[in-house]
Amino acid sequence: MWQALDTIVQALFPSSCAACGEVLMRGERQLCLHCISNLSRTLFDSMDENPVERLLVGRIPVEHAIAPFLFSKGNTVQQIVHSMKFRGNDELCLLMGRQLGLTLLRSTHFDGVDLLVPVPLHWWRRLCRGYNQSESLCRGIAEVFPRPISTHNLVRHHATAQQSLQHADARSNNVEGAFSVRHPERFEGKHLLLVDDVLTTGATLTACYNALRPIDGLRISVATLCTVL
Ligand SMILES: [Zn+2]
Repeated sequence: MWQALDTIVQALFPSSCAACGEVLMRGERQLCLHCISNLSRTLFDSMDENPVERLLVGRIPVEHAIAPFLFSKGNTVQQIVHSMKFRGNDELCLLMGRQLGLTLLRSTHFDGVDLLVPVPLHWWRRLCRGYNQSESLCRGIAEVFPRPISTHNLVRHHATAQQSLQHADARSNNVEGAFSVRHPERFEGKHLLLVDDVLTTGATLTACYNALRPIDGLRISVATLCTVL
């Protein structure tokens, strides 16, 4: 019965693809089959040492890092990230989180991860947007790569300017000292997977790590949905 109702609703109010705007066909959600099967992939998961890990060398002692999709001006991935961030599309975040989770599942490098930790938003920005896109990505990841999600221990206490609007050399200063850990003992001896949407200069992840660094026995891996690298 629900399926029949869904079909009627789809017929009356057809949804459109969040990337290309074409009307979605039955069974498609958020993205059309063409867009989801033609996303630009980095293929970093097939490399021994990938560009994300190389970018973070000397800044974060990562166990492993991954970014399965390539973000470039005007491409489908950029459209998706824009829709995730600025059009209130939480369901799209979940869908892309599942895609990221499948990449983690296929790799053996992330098997030892204990906790998923989304890069936090300042509470005010979270309130305005209604959700934290990195937290939603984590919920999507956890559907296929089941791990607990820690959302209130690593916190952002500065409402920093939008990183995407900053010049590269201003990004580091913008986020420096913006994060702290409420209960360091909860992360002791854990292998954390820091999760964010886009990796550009690595400034945000580095600032997160600087807050986490004093914690005993901590191991860090990184997963971002996409990267400009
Ligand atoms: Zn499409």
